[in-house]
Amino acid sequence: MDERQSRAEAVEAALVAAQGMFRSPRMFESNSTDALQGSVHWHPKKSLWISAMTLAALIAGPLYFTWGAFALFIVTTALTVCFGHSLGMHRRLVHRSYDCPLWLERLFVYFGTLVGLAGPFGIIRQHDIRDWAQRKAECHPFLAHRNAMWKDGLWQLHCELRLENPPELEVEPQVAGDKFYIWLERYWMAQQLPWALLFYWIGGLPWVIWGIAARVAISVTGHWLVGYFAHNSGPRNWHVDGAGVQGFSVPSAGIITFGEAWHNNHHAYPASARLGLKDGEIDPGWWVLRGLEALGLVSNLKTPDKLPVRTNLKLMSGVEN
Ligand SMILES: [Zn+2]
Ligand SMILES: [Zn+2]
Repeated sequence: MDERQSRAEAVEAALVAAQGMFRSPRMFESNSTDALQGSVHWHPKKSLWISAMTLAALIAGPLYFTWGAFALFIVTTALTVCFGHSLGMHRRLVHRSYDCPLWLERLFVYFGTLVGLAGPFGIIRQHDIRDWAQRKAECHPFLAHRNAMWKDGLWQLHCELRLENPPELEVEPQVAGDKFYIWLERYWMAQQLPWALLFYWIGGLPWVIWGIAARVAISVTGHWLVGYFAHNSGPRNWHVDGAGVQGFSVPSAGIITFGEAWHNNHHAYPASARLGLKDGEIDPGWWVLRGLEALGLVSNLKTPDKLPVRTNLKLMSGVEN
């Protein structure tokens, strides 16, 4: 068996085992692999993309405001963030926390690409390197969000981290070889174009400014902002022993992130399809999953009680399980 094939099998096995283990299943390390040493560089493509969207939204947004365009912004943001980013990219593609037919996974991942953060492989790469690094005793401040807010924003939205000795990422073959995902990855920015044309045709410039530029600017900036708080301050139910970076929940963002803001629970149970676990932890993405389950479209929804017990997980004092 060649090395590539054995790695592919190892990823498959680890994805299943990771339901209960404390490991990033797609990451492979050697003796020199290190999460700390690296340098931050300007990333022109990413930086120009978010700058153009933000400037268009800030300058043209007020000039072209209509209530119809604003309604389009709300509806398209909710659909892409909930079905696309949360359910498609994060809970399904990255963590496989529930089962669904391939056509539904692809539809959700397509919506996730429309959020404007990255294509499917870009999302897996960004997510998994952070997950892997945050589980180390120490990692680079870029991966820990450990900087003043202005500097973290500058780094996350406009720059990239180049680790000196990064781990190797191995994506499972059925995802890595998926022609649709390869196409989405290559043209992830261009996915906005057909929608921009349709919006222009229906509602003119106001619909393009609010339905594309404002939506992408708010989604990408909001994603960073929630990520910043979710690794710096907020309530915690759990402490993960040995991890240099802990997850914090951001209760004020529970609804608008469709449950993603219960990030402390996610660090505790990465493979759980349910993110809001306690009373009052509102998780609209979970409600949608339960609705889809009732319709027979998704199945095998993983929750902490169905996952193996983790010995490095400690309940914070005063919190009841
Ligand atoms: Zn995290
Ligand atoms: Zn995750």
